[in-house]
Amino acid sequence: MTSLDKRFHEYFESIDRAGDDRCYLCRRTPAEVKAFFGFAEDGTPLDAERYGIEDVVLYKLDIMSYKGSRPICAVCQLNFETIFLAGDHHVLHRVMSEVEHERDRLWSDSDEPEETPDEENESTEEGSRSKAEE
Ligand SMILES: [Zn+2]
Repeated sequence: MTSLDKRFHEYFESIDRAGDDRCYLCRRTPAEVKAFFGFAEDGTPLDAERYGIEDVVLYKLDIMSYKGSRPICAVCQLNFETIFLAGDHHVLHRVMSEVEHERDRLWSDSDEPEETPDEENESTEEGSRSKAEE
């Protein structure tokens, strides 16, 4: 299998698993990822003159990865790298838990201060938190 064949194989396998050609995490399409980074669909810079990057071309490989379990875009890759570099794994897990289990609180219209975790003084022991609401 040539390198190009291998890329196509990875791409279609990944799309098969995911159902469509979007980032698994943020649902951006490849075109939306390109636009996020300031590139047109064909990979040419949208505002090239302003930034002096006329010769920069964005390739498909730079915007989406199809080698993992699901397609992941470059925006999410960079965001997660930033989180991991900051050592914020536990914050990421807490946010994921909030999104999964605390939808009503997150999207409430109420300005009432509910029990929100204190970033500075928080213990890293997730298991020690008590569940007050029943
Ligand atoms: Zn993404």
